[in-house]
Amino acid sequence: MARAGARHAFGGAPLEVASWATSACGGDFGLAMPSEMDWILAPTCPACHEFLKEPHDVAERS
Ligand SMILES: [Zn+2]
Repeated sequence: MARAGARHAFGGAPLEVASWATSACGGDFGLAMPSEMDWILAPTCPACHEFLKEPHDVAERS
Protein backbone atom coordinates (compact mmCIF):
# COMPACT_ATOMS: atom_id res chain seq x y z
CA MET A 1 0.00 0.00 0.00
CA ALA A 2 1.35 3.39 -0.96
CA ARG A 3 2.07 5.68 1.90
CA ALA A 4 1.97 9.44 1.77
CA GLY A 5 4.62 11.25 3.73
CA ALA A 6 7.21 8.61 2.96
CA ARG A 7 10.02 8.44 0.49
CA HIS A 8 8.95 6.73 -2.68
CA ALA A 9 10.89 5.71 -5.74
CA PHE A 10 9.94 7.13 -9.10
CA GLY A 11 11.18 6.11 -12.49
CA GLY A 12 10.94 7.93 -15.77
CA ALA A 13 9.18 11.26 -15.58
CA PRO A 14 11.43 14.28 -15.18
CA LEU A 15 10.53 15.92 -11.90
CA GLU A 16 10.79 19.37 -13.43
CA VAL A 17 7.97 18.63 -15.86
CA ALA A 18 5.60 16.29 -14.09
CA SER A 19 3.30 17.69 -11.43
CA TRP A 20 2.40 14.18 -10.35
CA ALA A 21 3.91 10.75 -10.74
CA THR A 22 3.23 7.13 -10.01
CA SER A 23 5.67 5.64 -7.58
CA ALA A 24 7.25 2.21 -7.80
CA CYS A 25 4.72 0.91 -5.25
CA GLY A 26 1.83 2.09 -7.38
CA GLY A 27 0.80 5.25 -5.58
CA ASP A 28 0.00 8.51 -7.31
CA PHE A 29 1.57 11.49 -5.65
CA GLY A 30 1.67 15.16 -6.32
CA LEU A 31 5.30 16.13 -6.54
CA ALA A 32 6.58 18.90 -4.37
CA MET A 33 10.13 19.79 -3.57
CA PRO A 34 10.73 18.48 -0.07
CA SER A 35 13.05 20.31 2.21
CA GLU A 36 16.29 18.61 3.06
CA MET A 37 15.08 17.83 6.56
CA ASP A 38 11.80 16.44 5.27
CA TRP A 39 13.76 14.10 3.08
CA ILE A 40 16.04 12.98 5.88
CA LEU A 41 13.26 12.44 8.39
CA ALA A 42 10.71 10.80 6.12
CA PRO A 43 10.51 7.03 6.43
CA THR A 44 11.32 5.12 3.28
CA CYS A 45 8.35 3.40 1.70
CA PRO A 46 9.06 -0.34 2.10
CA ALA A 47 7.77 -1.22 -1.36
CA CYS A 48 9.87 1.46 -3.01
CA HIS A 49 12.88 0.44 -0.97
CA GLU A 50 12.56 -3.05 -2.42
CA PHE A 51 12.22 -1.52 -5.89
CA LEU A 52 15.45 0.41 -5.45
CA LYS A 53 17.30 -2.68 -4.23
CA GLU A 54 16.36 -4.63 -7.34
CA PRO A 55 18.27 -4.17 -10.59
CA HIS A 56 16.34 -2.05 -13.03
CA ASP A 57 17.31 -0.05 -16.05
CA VAL A 58 14.76 2.74 -16.02
CA ALA A 59 17.36 5.42 -15.40
CA GLU A 60 19.84 4.06 -17.89
CA ARG A 61 17.40 3.68 -20.77
CA SER A 62 17.70 6.49 -23.29
ZN1 LIG B 1 6.38 3.84 -2.34
